[in-house]
Amino acid sequence: MPRYYVNNTAQANGDHEVHKEGCRWIPFIKSKKDLGIHTTCYSAVREAKKTHPQSNGCIHCSKDCHTS
Ligand SMILES: [Zn+2]
Repeated sequence: MPRYYVNNTAQANGDHEVHKEGCRWIPFIKSKKDLGIHTTCYSAVREAKKTHPQSNGCIHCSKDCHTS
């Protein structure tokens, strides 16, 4: 099962993106929080929202959890 991370820095629209390990965007994140191991991105986003209420799945690695 993959590990997920949330970007501590918000996007321009206020979203904190949730990424799955191995996502090509992770190396560009300055500060991220480890969300632990999750079966799906849904529980990862739920966990991320405890820290950043406006969390959203990354459109590249967690498309199922991405809402626009
Ligand atoms: Zn991603």
